[in-house]
Amino acid sequence: MGVNPDTYEVRARRRCLVCDGEDEVWELEDTDQIGPLCRVCHAPSERIAVFERRRMPAAVNPHAAALGRLGGLKGGPARAAKLTAKRRRDIARAAARARWSHGK
Ligand SMILES: [Zn+2]
Repeated sequence: MGVNPDTYEVRARRRCLVCDGEDEVWELEDTDQIGPLCRVCHAPSERIAVFERRRMPAAVNPHAAALGRLGGLKGGPARAAKLTAKRRRDIARAAARARWSHGK
């Protein structure tokens, strides 16, 4: 796959789109702003702050990045890229609430 560029991770604060629970995690810098699932209700969480950044060892499992995206938004990456961050957040929040509000 050619040259493997340095990979960075960040210490970030995430807030659940549905239950508003907050958590502080180390995650890959390019993890989707809205993606990893809430530990409490398993709805997507949003990265709301980044505190520090560090370079990861070269031997880190490359699949970790893919796993981090599993909870992300599906489809339309080109279209999504054209949306503003606020618009994407609004869409993701609405979708998350619709999907995870059942059974409450
Ligand atoms: Zn939650």
